Amino acid sequence: VDSRLVSARASTLGPRLSLLIVRDVTEQERLDQMRNDFVANTSHELKTPVGAVTLLAEAIEMAADDPAQVRQFASRITAEAGRLNQLTGRIMSLSRLQAADGLGEFGPIALDEVIAASVEAHFVQADGAGVELSRGGDRGVWVRGDAQILTEAVGNLITNAIAYSPRGSRVGVGVRSDGDIVEIAVTDQGIGIAESDQERIFERFYRADEARSRRTGGTGLGLSIVKHATQRHGGEVRVWSRAGRGSTFTMRLPQVDAPAADPHDKKKHK
Ligand code: ADP
Repeated sequence: VDSRLVSARASTLGPRLSLLIVRDVTEQERLDQMRNDFVANTSHELKTPVGAVTLLAEAIEMAADDPAQVRQFASRITAEAGRLNQLTGRIMSLSRLQAADGLGEFGPIALDEVIAASVEAHFVQADGAGVELSRGGDRGVWVRGDAQILTEAVGNLITNAIAYSPRGSRVGVGVRSDGDIVEIAVTDQGIGIAESDQERIFERFYRADEARSRRTGGTGLGLSIVKHATQRHGGEVRVWSRAGRGSTFTMRLPQVDAPAADPHDKKKHK
């Protein structure tokens, strides 16, 4: 806003309008501040893996005649590149979620498929962590939305549940519907979250346990994506947790009727 224009307009139109404009400017400043913080935090997060890749590449150059060492450094580069890939993917998801037209067209989605896809994508992680991953609950429930972002959101809850759980424990993904609202719950028997952290964990880049999150490859963006994705679908996300006992995260979404079967689709009439 041009400040000269503001004061000229304010003096002709009276105090009420100038108050309005001041409020608008403050809101704009708050948004600018948020954007600046996001850029600063993101750059900071990107610097760690980029720095590691640079150092490892230099180490490979120096170890050129030791094939075992070269292989070891190369596999660490692959791991750091994976981390960069996850981080940039999550930054893109968050910015899609925050743009008014960032999501695909909202159509009816079979929740069964969203749950199946997000659970199946995590069997390898669960296996590696010695965690038993299973799904249960109601089937045949439909919601309205963007299947890709919902699958990512449920997947983020599963990733966390596994990452913050000990070997030999269980993670369950459940669905419960009352006809109007459907609740997707991801439950673990892991380290839990202190009450004082429970509200803040949905903020971008907030980690209850900084060191542990980095060790498990966390980005601090997973739950922020879950929150925004749920809200964009007209729902809400909640957490119940006790330190040392485990956590349950729920996404509650408005349910819709299953689309009428297409009479031309022969498969459905078998
Ligand atoms: P991260 O990538 O660090 O896991 P998230 O945004 O997904 O970032 O989660 C934010 C923080 O919330 C985590 O760093 C962790 O401290 C805490 N957290 C999230 N999910 C769980 C869970 N299932 N059990 C324990 N702590 C969790």
